[in-house]
Amino acid sequence: MTNNFSVYNTLTRKKERFEPLNPPFVGLYACGPTVYGDAHLGHARQAITFDVLYRFLLHLEYKVRYVRNITDVGHLENDADDGEDKILKKARLESLEPMEVVQHYMNRYHANMQELNVLDPSIEPRASGHIIEQQELIRKIMKAGYAYEKNGSVYFDVIKYNKSHPYGQLSGRKIEDLLSNTRTLDGQSEKNNPLDFALWKKADPTHIMRWPSDWSDGYPGWHLECSAMSTKYLGMEFDIHGGGMDLLFPHHECEIAQNVAGYGKPSVRYWMHNNMITINGKKMGRSLGNFITLDELFSGDHKMLEQAYSPMTIRFFILQAHYRSTLDFSNEALQGSEKGLMRLLKSIEMLDLVNPEETSTMDVEKLVKKCDKAMMDDMNTPILIGHLFEGVKWIHGLTEGRHTLKPSDLEKLKSLFHNYVYKILGLNKTESSRAGDQITGNLVEMILQIRTNAKAQRDFDTADRLRDELANLGITIKDRKDGADWEII
Ligand code: ZN
Repeated sequence: MTNNFSVYNTLTRKKERFEPLNPPFVGLYACGPTVYGDAHLGHARQAITFDVLYRFLLHLEYKVRYVRNITDVGHLENDADDGEDKILKKARLESLEPMEVVQHYMNRYHANMQELNVLDPSIEPRASGHIIEQQELIRKIMKAGYAYEKNGSVYFDVIKYNKSHPYGQLSGRKIEDLLSNTRTLDGQSEKNNPLDFALWKKADPTHIMRWPSDWSDGYPGWHLECSAMSTKYLGMEFDIHGGGMDLLFPHHECEIAQNVAGYGKPSVRYWMHNNMITINGKKMGRSLGNFITLDELFSGDHKMLEQAYSPMTIRFFILQAHYRSTLDFSNEALQGSEKGLMRLLKSIEMLDLVNPEETSTMDVEKLVKKCDKAMMDDMNTPILIGHLFEGVKWIHGLTEGRHTLKPSDLEKLKSLFHNYVYKILGLNKTESSRAGDQITGNLVEMILQIRTNAKAQRDFDTADRLRDELANLGITIKDRKDGADWEII
């Protein structure tokens, strides 16, 4: 199979033609959530970015194994090597078993992903289920001489590693700068160097999540799971590793170092990173008061929200920006997305009702090529959506009789919209019918108001006629003292 799909590789800092190691198979790994709180817009953007990549690869007829992990152990506060485990902290605050916290937020995450129409990955491994694999990798790294044990904990020796392998290649950081920017060890830390990172941590007596090991009863460092689990399910070398830009350093940088030290070579061919979300131009943060969860967005229940936004509106809003650009959230922008999405989905429904004519007045093939080109160019979804809206104008021209399409072109235009809008961008129709339901509801209410006014003016003929006409449409009315209830049968 040939195609010209190109992706921006964070490692080489350029767009490269996508060529899988073993076509038609593609190995795709994306970092999943640490499950200690409700999912927010940042989670949605990352999941949707790699969901669209997954969908597009499937559309290009690759056989994709998509692995997205769940971090349920070892992720400490502030991504540091010391401090409290994020899940344990939540468990302590809520008097829960840590795995209750994990289960609860994992279920919530899955529910949110389903609402956003994010496809399930092929495998969703959990860090706590791969302790043996992680310990094995630690032993390999120690054997290669790139890790050392201190008081039951094991640390990766960044300085030694950097002597033979460039550390900081992915994030473009230089070890000298990193060293001058880090505070010197305060005497509290047992690490040889502040840049060293934990592979295994000895658990203190109060730490509940712990496993026996060669070094101590403890738990793995956060970065280790992705090296161990990607290798287990995708092999020592695989095609694409994705994640948010916030994971680039230190998480992914450490991942590369672990793979090179443990397995002798870096595992990933293309590194892809989605950019961050800002809220009204500011970074999102719990301490800044502008932290909005997906559930709050879907319900509208947050002081910064002017209304509720449907999951499909959120999905469309995210896809209206290129995944490598920052995306600024505002009520205004989301309301724009809501209108745009409704117009797009409505047009597809209209297109399904168009009849073919003898000649075509538009070049459908050219539009298809333009759409393909946009997606092939590092998944440029905003440009793709722009072209689709060109098609929306055509659809209006077709329904208003200003344009015509012969049967083959009409079919091409339909499959263009079905493929790109439903299959690849993953936008679904239910939202449009929900929007349609809302309009229907408003119209019925309006007619009932006219009927109530007619009754008030003792114009019973009009009132009865409206009731009968509505009954003909399958809408029954039950009169109340102060108005009427209605239902569609
Ligand atoms: Zn990861």
